[in-house]
Amino acid sequence: MQNAKPRVLSRLRGQSINTLLILSFVIVALLPVSILGINSYHASWKNAWREVREKHQTLAENLSSPIAQYVNNRRIALSLLREKMLTLEDATDPASNAAVLAEGLDYLHGFRAVFLLDDHQRILSMASSYPIGKRDAVQLNLGPEEFIDDLFNSGRTFLSPVVINPFTGKTTLLVGTLLHGTNALQAPLLLVGELKIGAIEALRQGIRFGEQGHAAIVDQLGRVIAHPNPAWASDHVKDLSHLPIVQKMMAGQTGVTEFYSPFKKAEMVAGYTSVPKVGWGIMVPQPKAEIEAQIARIRGSELAWALAGIALALVFSLSLARWITRPLNALARAGQRLHDTNFRSELPKISPSAPLEIRQLAESLGGTVDELIASRAELAKLNDSLQERVDIATRELRKSNQKLEYLAQSDHLTGLANRRHFEQVLASLDGRRQGDGQGVCILLLDVDKFKDINDRHGHAAGDEVLIQIANILRQGLRNTDLAARYAGDEFVVLLRAGLETGRQRARDLRDAIDAHHFQFESQTLHTTVSIGMAYCHNVSGCSDPDELLHQVDVAMYEAKRQGRNRVVEVEQGHPWA
Ligand code: GH3
Ligand code: MG
Repeated sequence: MQNAKPRVLSRLRGQSINTLLILSFVIVALLPVSILGINSYHASWKNAWREVREKHQTLAENLSSPIAQYVNNRRIALSLLREKMLTLEDATDPASNAAVLAEGLDYLHGFRAVFLLDDHQRILSMASSYPIGKRDAVQLNLGPEEFIDDLFNSGRTFLSPVVINPFTGKTTLLVGTLLHGTNALQAPLLLVGELKIGAIEALRQGIRFGEQGHAAIVDQLGRVIAHPNPAWASDHVKDLSHLPIVQKMMAGQTGVTEFYSPFKKAEMVAGYTSVPKVGWGIMVPQPKAEIEAQIARIRGSELAWALAGIALALVFSLSLARWITRPLNALARAGQRLHDTNFRSELPKISPSAPLEIRQLAESLGGTVDELIASRAELAKLNDSLQERVDIATRELRKSNQKLEYLAQSDHLTGLANRRHFEQVLASLDGRRQGDGQGVCILLLDVDKFKDINDRHGHAAGDEVLIQIANILRQGLRNTDLAARYAGDEFVVLLRAGLETGRQRARDLRDAIDAHHFQFESQTLHTTVSIGMAYCHNVSGCSDPDELLHQVDVAMYEAKRQGRNRVVEVEQGHPWA
């Protein structure tokens, strides 16, 4: 768990801008929408309940006042009728009271019938708006005993609970008042008015809400006065006093409660109140499920809004991500292409509607690429010219080197190889048999009496003689031979030849020099050479080069001693003539 956060962050770090933008937008959209959704869900639940309670209670209270007014008006009307009856000399006289009752029914609205009863609630006289059959000795039920007792004892106007009209067989409500006879000895009479229960039902029906919301009215004993179930309301007396809500109304309370309705067979939420001075109860119930469905609808719409918010965030973030990443991707691809094609492709045109920073990036990238391409071209040009100069310099250097090598190896006066080069060549010969397999001959030539030429004809003449001897040697050489100026007036020749051939060529060289006419300025000079000669089957077979040269030198001096202009050979260190 401790590493969870860094792991999430490191995972996010490598993601594309697309993913990051979409993710952040969804989170940004989701968080407030969720918080708002949860809050408003709770609030809506609470509000809905408060509204339901207020509505139900208000409806119950609103229904209460017209009912109270209706009942009270009927009480007043009955009092007026009572006053009228009291003006009669004998209220028990059917001839006179029937007319007053009929007149009262006509003028005092709101009664279905008016009755005059004796103290046993038997009908003495009556007037009704509905047809009646035989009425003699019909007793009008005014309700339970205690109601009647109260009426007679208090003398107040009374309101009956729901009772059955003996003529219609339907439920009804009665208001009554005592009417004492003019003769004090007479038993009191009762003047009773039958209320138009339909008017109360009409008031009840005015309350309808939701699908199954309704109103119900019960009397002071908890019996149904008006109810959506017609059987309960009119056919018989339906007692609901066992219901707690009804008991609360009968206790004069007002409020909201939940209860199980046997009629709707469902849990109900109901506002209830009692009608002041009348004692009735009014309740406005609605199935709890209906209220919950209503709240669920609110929740559904909130969920829909939340989803719409997320969808909007997605669309917005996708568009934004596309807006940002499209030119960036194009630049990235172009960068790769530039790399792949070695800067032979172009950067894409970035739309003027792209984000400012990306346009700036594209512009500076474009500038950098242009500069880079120009620099590369310049560098290529410089490279070419540098290469050309290097080639020229290399050629010149090679020539100089060759010249230097030549100078290092040659004698400046005669152009022949110098002593150092000759010794190197001699030392580099390996032990194999040389040339055509006949070995090698070394000749050492010394100009005879050269000092005399110098002395007689000058140093320049001596030089010229040396040059011309070198030419004679050069002409007499084969490709595999080497002639070099060894010192002052001494020359060495390396011949790849057998002993006989070497002897012959040594003699030929001596003869050629002897026969040569050395031309110097206008003079013709003559000179000869003394030659020391050594023959080896192979170089290592003789002795080391220094020793060999020494022996040849000794042989050459032997030639001088013997009279000059001759060849003296040396064989394995034993010179012989
Ligand atoms: P020998 O027959 O005994 O050799 O007599 P020589 O006079 O030739 O005696 P030697 O060989 O000892 O003398 C060589 C002379 O060559 C000595 C020197 O002044 C001369 N000499 C050496 N180098 C050069 C040169 O480059 N040019 C000229 N003109 N003379 C040179
Ligand atoms: Mg000499």
